[in-house]
Amino acid sequence: MGDGAGLLLAQDEVVGLASELIRIDTTNTGDPATVVGERAAAEWVAEKLAEVGYETTYVESGAKGRGNVVARLAGADRSRGALLVHGHLDVVPADPSEWSVHPFSGAVQDGYVWGRGAVDMKDMVAMSLAVARRFKRDGIVPPRDIVFAFLADEEAGGFFGAKWLVENRPELFEGVTEAISEVGGFSITLKDDARAYLVETAEKGIRWLTLRVRGTAGHGSMIHRDNAVAKLAEAVTKLGNHQFPLVVRPSVREFLDGVTEITGWDFPEEDLEGAVGKLGALSRMIGATLRDTANPTMLSAGYKANVIPSVAQATVDCRILPGREEAFDRELAELLGPDVEREWVGLPPVETTFDGALVDAMAASITAEDPGARVLPYMLSGGTDSKSFQQLGIRNFGFAPLKLPADLDFSGLFHGVDERVPVDALKFGVRVLERFLRNS
Ligand SMILES: [Zn+2]
Repeated sequence: MGDGAGLLLAQDEVVGLASELIRIDTTNTGDPATVVGERAAAEWVAEKLAEVGYETTYVESGAKGRGNVVARLAGADRSRGALLVHGHLDVVPADPSEWSVHPFSGAVQDGYVWGRGAVDMKDMVAMSLAVARRFKRDGIVPPRDIVFAFLADEEAGGFFGAKWLVENRPELFEGVTEAISEVGGFSITLKDDARAYLVETAEKGIRWLTLRVRGTAGHGSMIHRDNAVAKLAEAVTKLGNHQFPLVVRPSVREFLDGVTEITGWDFPEEDLEGAVGKLGALSRMIGATLRDTANPTMLSAGYKANVIPSVAQATVDCRILPGREEAFDRELAELLGPDVEREWVGLPPVETTFDGALVDAMAASITAEDPGARVLPYMLSGGTDSKSFQQLGIRNFGFAPLKLPADLDFSGLFHGVDERVPVDALKFGVRVLERFLRNS
């Protein structure tokens, strides 16, 4: 990219940035009273941006310490829609006794940066920060405005992060038409040395559903025909055993067709789930994008062995394919009947098409660094802050490029023990990201 000697390149500082950021413990337990470190991390990011000349906006989203930072880099054509590059600063908890290194050490050893957040997603935050700093330091003007946003609370739904900002400070994202962030852009090795990079173009919706059943309270020693616990258990069993219909969305079909072209493997409609097993570790995630799911996760009822309680309730983690929300509701109502009360909080599915200039720029920036690689869309079974940004009409992609070793179980590292990211992958990612942002 025509860089002279002596310049500090983004790839020269990305490893240090990732390691430093991991050392700031930003554990998000989901309970706002115990969240730590988001403010310190946001202030650290703001300082790294201000150091090279950015004006930054620091926002605490409705609660003390829930720090978010936003900065805008002016592009050459200010009439074009801006591109949002966002990343979350919080991480899920980690128990040091289970790890080979301390999860908040940011250790750089054996070719990896280790620690909670290494792949989810302090890697991408460090990459974005390294490119943002490089652009400002060296006066590189991207084709259009880039908005960099570093956010709190993604791991608990973004209620103090993306979701709050979208609802309360939408002007920070004015003019943004497209966005990139986590859980996409990583490589999978399919056959010999044939690599495909997966760009996330869709996400299932989330519903955290509460089921509540009422009955008649009474003494545990009596004959009793209206027991809330028994009725709830029946409803939970029914739902836990239920299989929702197979629905192949375009993002899933395009992914499978791409894999077929690379490997020759067949994914016939009549045994899709069996065929998806060929994908190895990835089959857990891809398999979960073929149907809606409803997994019971919590139960609560009663307070004494000889008292029949009047209420029993359960929590069910439901994940719903794009386009299936109404059908899912109907199916649930039919399955559970009118006596099971249902309440939920959640976030909608996300879906966009895998085409256009931005997608072309992603593919070109990948193949410039990894010639011969394929770039394919895929659907994420989980959720990200994209769900919130979709509310502003923004088109969302998961594109945090990483070239990974063939034998690394990448999806297993998310929220896992010994979370780590290859040093080479970070350097690769930052080169791809810089090329992409210069050409989008
Ligand atoms: Zn994440």
